[in-house]
Formats: sequence, structure tokens, C-alpha cells
Amino acid sequence: NSFMELNLSRPLLKACEVLGYTKPTPIQAACIPLALTGRDICGSAITGSGKTAAFALPSLERLLFRPKRVNAIRVLILTPTRELAAQVYSMIKNLAQFTDIRCCLIVGGLSTQVQVTALRSMPDIVVATPGRMIDHLRNSMSVDLDDLAILILDEADRLLELGFSAEIRELTRLCPKRRQTMLFSATMTEEVDELIKLSLTRPVRLSA
Ligand code: AMP
Repeated sequence: NSFMELNLSRPLLKACEVLGYTKPTPIQAACIPLALTGRDICGSAITGSGKTAAFALPSLERLLFRPKRVNAIRVLILTPTRELAAQVYSMIKNLAQFTDIRCCLIVGGLSTQVQVTALRSMPDIVVATPGRMIDHLRNSMSVDLDDLAILILDEADRLLELGFSAEIRELTRLCPKRRQTMLFSATMTEEVDELIKLSLTRPVRLSA
């Protein structure tokens, strides 16, 4: 029961070591091997379970081993609040510190112009709140999700509670149909179930 057994590459194992992660949490042990196969996943997991690394590590691993055609956004992570987005962003920076994978943070309250510049440089991973991400996609000709490989909906119940249902639908439509989608939620409400039906394909259900 170690990260070594999860088939992650050296730079990611090294990051786990530096961060003091000695063994995977239950959600990580269940999610990482499945996510590496490309399956859609919906996970019941709360903050503190280690869910961020559970979706971040396999996403990073898949980026390391995909030939990069052009500079493009390959992974989009949607979170309900700026604070959560900032936490996820910081965790991804930490986990990716020994790779050349680039991540950017797109949230309200920060300079739009600075974000446009960041997005135009086509980071591999974007961590965003839904409203601000849509603004950028509508207003900037040079930003699109055409080459997206992985979509992650973090804290789906809160995304819906905060009224982001329409934004998530729109963002999902802008992503390629052929993609991997992972959804995490503390609670599985009827609304979350609807969202799962809408945006995931034959998902594996995990709980921790
Ligand atoms: P999360 O549930 O993703 O918000 O993570 C909660 C906290 O657990 C974060 O501070 C992580 O840095 C930490 N964490 C995540 N995975 C592990 C692990 N395998 N071992 C120790 N700490 C971890």
C-alpha cells in the first residue's frame, strides 16, 4: 500500500515524498489506478479525504505520457469557490513541481488581463471557477477547450448549490465528447445524479 505500487512516474513519486505523503489515502488507492485507465469516475469524498491528489495525480500522469500536439488546455478543473480553486491550484503546483506541466488559476476577483495572458500561453491545466472560465471562453478568440482530455468537477454538490448548473452545462458542451470526466461530491443529491448522467459516460462509483 504505497504510491510506488500505483504506477506513477518518478517526478510524481518524488513530489509525494517531498510533501510527506507516505501512503495513499483510501480514495487515492481506489481512484488513481482506475483514473489511469481513462475511465469516468464519480467519487463521494469530502475535503480532508485526499480527493485533490486522487484526481490530480492520475491527471498529471496522463499528461506526462501523452504526446503534446500543440499547446492546449488538456485538463480543466472546475471548483465552486475562489478559495477552493486556489487550494487545488497550489496542490497541483506542488505535485507537478518536478515536471514541466504548467497550471493556471482562473477565478473572479483577479485581473482579467493577467488571466488572458496566462490562458493565451496555453497552460496544460486550468483550475477555475465556472463563471470566470466562461467569460474567457466567450471573450477570447484564442482560448478554447478543443483539445481537452480531462474534465474534473470538484465539489459538484456545492457547484450546483451555488447556482452554477447552467455554466457547467455550457462548459461541458464546449469540451470534446471524447474525454475523461471525474466528478467528486460530498453528498449525492438528485441534482448531482442528473449532472452525472449529463456529463459522465459509464462512470465507476467510488466512495471514501
Ligand atoms: P483534500 O482532501 O484533497 O483537501 O486533502 C486534505 C489534506 O491531506 C491536504 O492538506 C493534503 O496535502 C493532504 N494529503 C493528501 N493526500 C495525502 C496523503 N496520501 N498522505 C498525507 N497527506 C495527504
